[in-house]
Amino acid sequence: MAKKIDHIGIAVKSLEASLPLYTEGLKLNLLGIEEVESEGVKVAFLKVGESKIELLEPLHGESPIAKFIEKKGEGIHHIALGVDNIEDRIKQIKENGLEMINNEPKQGAAGAKVAFLHPKSTGRVLYELCEKPQKENK
Ligand code: ZN
Repeated sequence: MAKKIDHIGIAVKSLEASLPLYTEGLKLNLLGIEEVESEGVKVAFLKVGESKIELLEPLHGESPIAKFIEKKGEGIHHIALGVDNIEDRIKQIKENGLEMINNEPKQGAAGAKVAFLHPKSTGRVLYELCEKPQKENK
């Protein structure tokens, strides 16, 4: 059902402070930086072959990422599985007895449709389903 690990999301306090580790230390290519209002985050995507690392910086204190950092500190936040037909995948996952946080896909970064599974269904790992806009769907 999933095509690949689309990206791994990492919560950081500051993109500015964290980016040099990735761009200079690890020599990863920065693909872009974007604000995702619906999640209250600013994200930076770095290319790792076919997958990406997504750094998430909270835009304000109410952001889920701000709350995550408050509780657990900076670090790995979620794993995103690349899928087609996200609506069908959500339905299938629920039929399989797992709980979704988002029963409907919402707008993510780079025009993607995203939905999160509830970590209590998945051994406390936060998984995101991520469907890219058609043109990038190679
Ligand atoms: Zn993500």
